[in-house]
Amino acid sequence: MLQLTGSNSARAKTTNHTAILRLIYQNAPVKRSDLRQMLDLTLPTITTSVNVMIRAGLVRETDADETGAPGRKAHALAIDERYGFFCGIEMRGAKRTACITDFRGRMLRSVTDAHPCADYDKALRSAASLYRKLLKRVGLSASDIKGIGLVVPGLVDSEQGILTTYPGYNWLDKALCADFRSLTSYRGPVRAMNNTASRAIAAQLFLQEDLKDADTFAYLFVADGIACPLVINTPLISKSVVGNGEIGHMVMREKGALCSCGNRGCLEAYSGDRAILAACTEARKNGKAPVLASNTKGCDYLTMEDVLRAQSDGDAFVSEEVQSALTTLGIAIANITNYGSTDTMLIEGKLFDREENRKLLTDTIQKNLYSMYHSKTTFRFLPADPLSGARGAAAIAILNAIEHYAG
Ligand SMILES: [Zn+2]
Repeated sequence: MLQLTGSNSARAKTTNHTAILRLIYQNAPVKRSDLRQMLDLTLPTITTSVNVMIRAGLVRETDADETGAPGRKAHALAIDERYGFFCGIEMRGAKRTACITDFRGRMLRSVTDAHPCADYDKALRSAASLYRKLLKRVGLSASDIKGIGLVVPGLVDSEQGILTTYPGYNWLDKALCADFRSLTSYRGPVRAMNNTASRAIAAQLFLQEDLKDADTFAYLFVADGIACPLVINTPLISKSVVGNGEIGHMVMREKGALCSCGNRGCLEAYSGDRAILAACTEARKNGKAPVLASNTKGCDYLTMEDVLRAQSDGDAFVSEEVQSALTTLGIAIANITNYGSTDTMLIEGKLFDREENRKLLTDTIQKNLYSMYHSKTTFRFLPADPLSGARGAAAIAILNAIEHYAG
């Protein structure tokens, strides 16, 4: 199927290499005979490619024998995690988080700069400084890093490495990858992507065991903004994330609340963390949220942890605000599930640290789903992880290394 001939043979070789490498990455341990079946390639083609990858240190043979393989005893294949290191950086206005991983995506070290930076140049300098700090702490040099991933909220042109727009901070048309290179003098590949799309890529690369029965999945990420990219879950296509998934700017109420993008009535203006925090901050100031006020006496600003604690302690205003945010979100999710009807939806967000909130969201989704699809999508909450953005950024660097491996 993927075998091409004649003048296309060089391209065919690269295409075959990429497909084989991704299949090994996502299905390891995998037998050569399985690869042959999955790719419709001949065994000699598979063997030649795999031998090149073993010599290059990308792939290793595992201890398990391939049963029924002809000739000498061959072993099943896996990715060689010692191939190299990758750096992932999530750059948000509120904070920057960075990590170094091995080829398997296992994290060696992470660092965070939690100082808010409204200015793009300052935030980028902070990201570059985290990268240098990590290299030092792990004892690596830039040449040990096989690739860097940079992820940000908002719209990113991944092909060009440009941050098109980050509405909350008004960062527009920034040459993200080029700017990062000039600050760090890093010579390897630097890739950029939206920070939720990259989380979805990380799920596809690192959570494959959990997603093996899902032909498609969606990744709902709720923070200040809300996004939900759809993923076609096959290693055989390179652009598996469909669209931008920017559901946070789906208009829920005409002439509704003002959103950070300038429009009115967007979902994130009701259900995003920033909207919830703004409403609770106002209520604390006006004496409408006494439990929250008493819990946070002397604090300059509120966090989502404060909100969840006040909800748990029975603050009526905070509870109502959170319920309203979750109801609006649940309706939006039901609508997009009716449209996309993916097999699985992974859900990440600070709000879902509380069981009560997870239940309210899923109940609202089920209540508003078109009945035909009622049981098709499985909704799964992921544990809240402050490093998921940096891990997603490392995932896009790893995926780039796989997809651009020419052999
Ligand atoms: Zn908006």
